[in-house]
Amino acid sequence: MNNTLTTTILIVEDELIAAESLALDLKKLGYHINAVVNSGEKAISQVEKSPPDLILMDIMLKGKMDGITAAQKIYHQWKIPIIYLSAYADTDTLQRAKATPVYGYLVKPYKIADISTTISMALAKYREDKHTEEELCAEKKINQLKSRALATASHDLRTPLTNILGYTELIRDYGDRISPDKKERYFNFIKSAVGKMKDSLEDLLLISRAEEGKVTLYPQNFNLVEYLEILVEEYKNLSDEHKIKLSTNDNQYNVCLDQKILNHILHNLLSNAIKYSPQGGEVRLKLDKNEGEIILEIEDDGIGIPEDYQDKLFHLFERGNNVGNIKGNGLGLSIVKKAVELCQGNIFVESEENKGSKFTVILPRVSS
Ligand code: ADP
Repeated sequence: MNNTLTTTILIVEDELIAAESLALDLKKLGYHINAVVNSGEKAISQVEKSPPDLILMDIMLKGKMDGITAAQKIYHQWKIPIIYLSAYADTDTLQRAKATPVYGYLVKPYKIADISTTISMALAKYREDKHTEEELCAEKKINQLKSRALATASHDLRTPLTNILGYTELIRDYGDRISPDKKERYFNFIKSAVGKMKDSLEDLLLISRAEEGKVTLYPQNFNLVEYLEILVEEYKNLSDEHKIKLSTNDNQYNVCLDQKILNHILHNLLSNAIKYSPQGGEVRLKLDKNEGEIILEIEDDGIGIPEDYQDKLFHLFERGNNVGNIKGNGLGLSIVKKAVELCQGNIFVESEENKGSKFTVILPRVSS
């Protein structure tokens, strides 16, 4: 609907000669005529069949429905901009017309210059209204997302907070009677709970900032192999039932990436691989490279992802129906996806229920 060449107009006018002459003028101006109809009812069925970009609607129509009622119905359902046509209308009718969403008036007899200006102004106003509506809609979506994320966060933060409180009280009240080993374990529990809270908060912050397009990347040069070795060590300490294996052909692989963003990707994928392998087992992290690409694979032998859920895998707050009582909030993979996209990368998944899952992340290797 950017120019006259693609704008289609429906004329609703019950005087045949007036309608024909208006159609001729519009064609001269380069508009396409969608149809010419002579009643409100026909206008509605024409819009249903083939919606035009704009409607020129006579206010006074013969038949049961006048132009204003037809315009109200059409605008309400299809949001098509409408310009009223009128020769003379009493004050009441004009008042009614003003109360409907109107994009312009053309008073008979029309001058071709007036037709052209009124249509251009109506289309410009309509585009502006639509743009504002889209912006409001996007803002509403972000706000809804934020409130849901906030609710999720407060729910997720409660458990580690309760644990922290519990262990600090234990240490405070029985510190002198607890063995150094036990104390060390309690401190580790506290540390891990704080770590979980920090991860949750950082995940949420990333998703909300990414939605608003406000993420700035801070790439830095580092040895990816060393980074992965440290990461794997961290995870080995977290779970006794799982074997975390790192495989790579190199000792040194220098990359230039935003480490925080990479953390979001790998922490979420690794903790999922562990979480969704409730029977324990092996989690394999593999580093591979292609020309100009970093390939990271995270593979588990866990519960797998149901086939009919795989297309929703990266959607916010969605969870597979085979998760049983494994805890989660459906945020992690959408964060992973956002983070991968921020790095101009790609993510793929191969999975079979009850067999396991393999996530492959491909990131461009910006510099060595
Ligand atoms: P959460 O784990 O908190 O539910 P995610 O966004 O990380 O949220 O994952 C979304 C869903 O994808 C999970 O609920 C689960 O159904 C499925 N999923 C993710 N990773 C795995 C995996 N490694 N194995 C099996 N299912 C997985």
